[in-house]
Amino acid sequence: SFPCFATAPRLKTQVCFKFHIRSMASHIVGYPRMGPKRELKFALESFWDGKSSAEELQKLAADLRVSIWKQMADAGIKYIPSNTFSYYDHVLDTTAMLGAVPLRYGWSCGEIGFDIYFSMARGNASVPAMEMTKWFDTNYHYIVPELGPDVEFSYASHKAVQEYKEAKALGIDTIPVLVGPVSYLLLSKLAKGVEKSFSLLSLIDKIIPIYKQVVAELKAAGASWIQFDEPTLVMDLDSQKLHAYTHAYKELEPSVSSLNVLIETYFADLPAEAYNTVTALKGVTAIGFDLVRGSKTLDLIKDGFPRGKYLFAGVVDGRNIWANDLNASLSTLQALESVVGKDKLVVSTSCSLLHTAVDLVNETKLDKELKSWLAFAAQKLLEVNALAKALSGQKDEAFFSANAAAQASRRSSPRVTNEAVQKATAAVKGSDHRRVTNVSARLAAQQEKLNLPVLPTTTIGSFPQTLGLRKVRREYKANKISEEEYVRAIKEEIKVVVKLQEELGLDVLVHGEPERNDMVEYFGEQLSGFAFTVNGWVQSYGSRCVKPPIIYGDVSRPKAMTVFWSTLAQSMTKHPMKGMLTGPVTILNWSFVRNDQPRFETCYQIALAIKDEVEDLEKAGINVIQIDEAALREGLPLRKSEQAFYLDWAVHSFRITNCAVQDTTQIHTHMCYSNFNDIINSIMDMDADVITIENSRSDEKLLSVFREGVKYSAGIGPGVYDIHSPRIPTTEEITDRVNKMLAVLESNVLWVNPDCGLKTRKYSEVKPALSNMVAAAKRARVQL
Ligand code: GLN
Ligand code: ZN
Repeated sequence: SFPCFATAPRLKTQVCFKFHIRSMASHIVGYPRMGPKRELKFALESFWDGKSSAEELQKLAADLRVSIWKQMADAGIKYIPSNTFSYYDHVLDTTAMLGAVPLRYGWSCGEIGFDIYFSMARGNASVPAMEMTKWFDTNYHYIVPELGPDVEFSYASHKAVQEYKEAKALGIDTIPVLVGPVSYLLLSKLAKGVEKSFSLLSLIDKIIPIYKQVVAELKAAGASWIQFDEPTLVMDLDSQKLHAYTHAYKELEPSVSSLNVLIETYFADLPAEAYNTVTALKGVTAIGFDLVRGSKTLDLIKDGFPRGKYLFAGVVDGRNIWANDLNASLSTLQALESVVGKDKLVVSTSCSLLHTAVDLVNETKLDKELKSWLAFAAQKLLEVNALAKALSGQKDEAFFSANAAAQASRRSSPRVTNEAVQKATAAVKGSDHRRVTNVSARLAAQQEKLNLPVLPTTTIGSFPQTLGLRKVRREYKANKISEEEYVRAIKEEIKVVVKLQEELGLDVLVHGEPERNDMVEYFGEQLSGFAFTVNGWVQSYGSRCVKPPIIYGDVSRPKAMTVFWSTLAQSMTKHPMKGMLTGPVTILNWSFVRNDQPRFETCYQIALAIKDEVEDLEKAGINVIQIDEAALREGLPLRKSEQAFYLDWAVHSFRITNCAVQDTTQIHTHMCYSNFNDIINSIMDMDADVITIENSRSDEKLLSVFREGVKYSAGIGPGVYDIHSPRIPTTEEITDRVNKMLAVLESNVLWVNPDCGLKTRKYSEVKPALSNMVAAAKRARVQL
């Protein structure tokens, strides 16, 4: 039988007692906050909707924290973190702690409560929210602090101390976790109106006094350890930034003197200079490293680690859902033991478990074998502890051999390996995959066939997803309606969307994606090698969670995935109908990816599957095919030294999908992320015929690329209005935008389209917005 952690009984009291007295050196960097069934999400949303009280929300949050602390204690974890809970975001919590509330929220003094806190996070009736951005290369988003010379910092949220005391009252002595002062500043942006030359790091001496107050209170409450998360240490930092670390921790040293201070780093290798800086920090007694992504860090440690300091070795992956290879980790740890000493090695996670799913125990649909290969946050606690026990000579043989058996079954499973796919992928490496004709000639051939007006109009793919539509899909999935009824309903919806586009006068139509719940899930469900969880949610921002598919095996496409709907839609109109696919890089970046082969190999496999689909669409008479790469930019590695390699295989994967189509087949791609100036060469190298991109929130940025003389000869559709807002753009403003673009681009390459899909909008917004867009295109045409 398979070793299934999820079904193992939780021996709460015994386990707790037995492990506690032995005090294994185990640590968890951080833990998911949402709860195993997204309890926090629902509580937050109900509170925001005015359906429940602040007390009810606080009560639920407190219960979640207690259950997490108890779970860690029961698992035998020695260094249990506190203050890793958050009502929205831990960077926003730090902003509250420092009293760095932007003036527009009208806060002046006193402890920051829900009203100010959630206004900063989400905006309120009169003031918009603070900006949100990606937390390193994860899918988690944090609220960006807005700082400048005039910010008056004050100790305005005692959350860290309160949480420490809360755990202490349960008899659990935790390590309070704070975002470190240097990372906090490096992750901030200049407040509006602040001189560009202002150095955010110059604020360090203003925030350190607040950190000192927090530390003093934690000490008074009984804390003996404190953890500062300083993940920016893995970035490419110049010596001035590294010096900020030296300075900050020297300043903090007197107040932390009787404490053990842990600096946590994660998400990548540490550059050698950063390693030298962090290991030399004053007052710091322990350093945590991500040893899953940091194989080079491992070498640095082996070359030298300061005597007497603790090493927190992050060997259990916090970014993935795979069970740890315990034997491999154990030998890594044993090697480290000989470097740092037995009593100075602590087993830990590679980063906070925030980025993985919560508990495998709630997965009712995954089979036993697959489950034996997985570990979610709750299971990772057990892995960390098992490794710590093994290091101290109390190896749980049963646990280890069950793990080894699972690893072996995964390695040899025919569900994982598909010889034909492996062969095809191996053949792909090293080759180039380019369309034979250059893009200008292709565009000419396509124009002959498609006969489009100049400044052609189109949309990005999805049309509004009404409640009725969601219900149809849900009921079909639950077998409550027949396939026939389902097809009829979707067909009706497509008909409506096609008719609407014809009435609006759009040139290249879409079918509206009514059959799709999610652009990755839809394809994952039809490809082999993918599995789907029921509760494998990961926080994306605030109460928003995503449920990434799990890619566990070689990917192949048993049969056509979109041809039925696309050809049906094409049959309803004389206008070209865009086939609509999600690209391989986006499917990869929005999934939990297998860790037993390089990411690029998995990406190539998906690319080959999408290639088959592209060719089937072409054969079925679809002349325009869009392959979305919404998340290509997202996967860019943190370290510059690794970016070229990523871009190379990512762009190659995209080209594989469409290298074999005829010149007359027009390949579109779409990207969401507006900040793509830095990868413009790679985007051109994708060699798509037309690219539509998100742009409306940063016109200038994109224009500057072309002003600076980048030669762009493919079709391009910079979004002319923001679909994230309910606001309806006027014909004048869209015309204006188009004209601005025409100033830097040839009129024969410019397309007119919205920023992204219309899925989240209402028809009452979409109809007038698109109508104005088409009117603007027509107006601009006559002015040419
Ligand atoms: N074709 C997709 C849609 O329109 C693209 C979504 C995206 O870029 N995120 O919904
Ligand atoms: Zn988009």
